[in-house]
Amino acid sequence: MLVNIHTHYKRADSIEIVNCSEIFDLPSYYSFGIHPWDSENKGLKISEIERNLQDKFMLAIGEIGLDKIKGPSLEIQKSCFIDQVLIAEKIKRPVIIHCVKAWNEIAAIKKQLQPKQTWIFHGFNKVPILESVLAEGLMISIGEAIFNNTKLQMALQKIPNDQLFLETDDSEITILEIYKKVSTLKNLSLSELEEIIENNFKRIFRI
Ligand SMILES: [Zn+2]
Repeated sequence: MLVNIHTHYKRADSIEIVNCSEIFDLPSYYSFGIHPWDSENKGLKISEIERNLQDKFMLAIGEIGLDKIKGPSLEIQKSCFIDQVLIAEKIKRPVIIHCVKAWNEIAAIKKQLQPKQTWIFHGFNKVPILESVLAEGLMISIGEAIFNNTKLQMALQKIPNDQLFLETDDSEITILEIYKKVSTLKNLSLSELEEIIENNFKRIFRI
């Protein structure tokens, strides 16, 4: 079975974690959190997160994080991010990280809080920070960037199998296309890659 660790659209072509920022028509598995771009009104949204805490289909808090290109000030974003990391620790759920030009800050927060829950760096595409992200123990989720980012293609071999996830995010591409590309680059058969990702999914989400 294919696993799509982060998507904004329900497609039902894989086991998928659909990212929700509003609770409407809930998909089977979903992540819920305040995106850094929306971190200004965190009070309201935190109460929504708390309403969903007991829901066994809410697999992760996310996407949450820091973005230096877009969104409110870094101080506002940090406070919203830290609050949600602490919630994830309390309810024992992994975190899906949105990080744009802010890895140093996110790594510093991780060192400070020492979270026990797994963090998943979604939409990873910045090869220069790869070693540091791996050393901090994050899972790396690869999406559409693998098709045209040649540095990422070359760095793929450095990502240990047990730290790898795949995702479509908000792209039109299918998760199967991403699996095919990654399996070719990693010299794995499609079924070998499927098994690797499925095992990671079961281990991290205890499913
Ligand atoms: Zn996303």
